[in-house]
Amino acid sequence: MSRECEFLVVGGGIAGVSCAESLAICRPNASILLLTESSIVKSVTNLVPVARYLHKFDVREQYVTEMGASFETLVDRLDHINSSEHCTRTKAGVEIKYRYLCLCTGGTPKLFSGKCVDPLVIGIRDTDSVQLLQRKLATAKDVLILGNGGIASELAYELKDVNVHWVVKDSHISATFVDPGAAEFFHIAMNECNAEDSSPVAAIKRMRYSEVLPKEQTNNHGAALGPDWQRTVDLSGAREGGEKRLPKIYYKSRINSVQDLADDAGALVKLEHEDGSFEQLTCDFIVSATGVWPNTDYTCDSPLQFSDDGGIIGG
Ligand SMILES: Cc1cc2nc3c(=O)[nH]c(=O)nc-3n(C[C@H](O)[C@H](O)[C@H](O)COP(=O)(O)OP(=O)(O)OC[C@H]3O[C@@H](n4cnc5c(N)ncnc54)[C@H](O)[C@@H]3O)c2cc1C
Repeated sequence: MSRECEFLVVGGGIAGVSCAESLAICRPNASILLLTESSIVKSVTNLVPVARYLHKFDVREQYVTEMGASFETLVDRLDHINSSEHCTRTKAGVEIKYRYLCLCTGGTPKLFSGKCVDPLVIGIRDTDSVQLLQRKLATAKDVLILGNGGIASELAYELKDVNVHWVVKDSHISATFVDPGAAEFFHIAMNECNAEDSSPVAAIKRMRYSEVLPKEQTNNHGAALGPDWQRTVDLSGAREGGEKRLPKIYYKSRINSVQDLADDAGALVKLEHEDGSFEQLTCDFIVSATGVWPNTDYTCDSPLQFSDDGGIIGG
């Protein structure tokens, strides 16, 4: 089977759907095909400008069939790109000829790559990874969070009944979003909050938007989670008390090495501080929240090239 279109957009996350919708507005006569691995797609709704460059919006998850979109859709996985012939092949064997190809296939968490075995280091991306986090938390007393972006900043203050060791490479928390002064303010505010009130929301500068959940709450093979993902999830560890404990923060630090402990006792982590000193701690597992790599689970006739920030360089 084969198909042909002017614009082939791959990925049913917010980027892919917004891309296809924008193309449909800008080029109403063009043939646009959205290729999505998941039958549930994410789109922007209730877009309201709140300032010149700031918009507020909701994220809607819906079945592809419910989109009523001004472009065609195909639920299948991109398998191969033949860029010299402007042609792609899907997992089901459909050949799609295109003039322009828009890759919006999202990212996978960059995991800290020490010598430790996989189950000791997890990333958070979708429902599956959150369920893994919950399972590991259920027996955990000490968790190490590595990273200083949105996911790390949220998790550090959301986990309950577990000691949180938060390792950040910067001299202040949430450095991806706030400057040192604001970080200090937020940190003091967090310390003053009681367990119920402590919320990571204030520490994150980016726009938060509400999720309108789909009928079937699954993100398997689908888009990445979004804001407030943790609201409906029990993130309790194995220590008693039912309380959120403030994280112990290790500034200007990085993981030097990780050693698996015998009998599933977790990991012995050696931290290296910027001043050259070292410190050891034990934890049950590590949440690696240090950004993402582009999803490139497809082959290409010519090797994909990446920019310094990890993005795919278009030709
Ligand atoms: C826990 C968590 C919390 C977050 N919180 C926030 C927040 O508060 N605010 C915020 O702005 N952002 C937040 N983000 C980030 C936000 O979720 C992502 O930036 C956004 O979802 C990226 O959208 P995307 O469309 O680029 O990728 P994705 O949402 O990952 O979508 C990629 C799509 O491509 C599809 N795909 C992949 N490979 C193929 C293939 N080979 N063939 C066909 N389809 C394919 C996938 O099925 C998926 O539908 C959070 C992310 C996480 C994980």
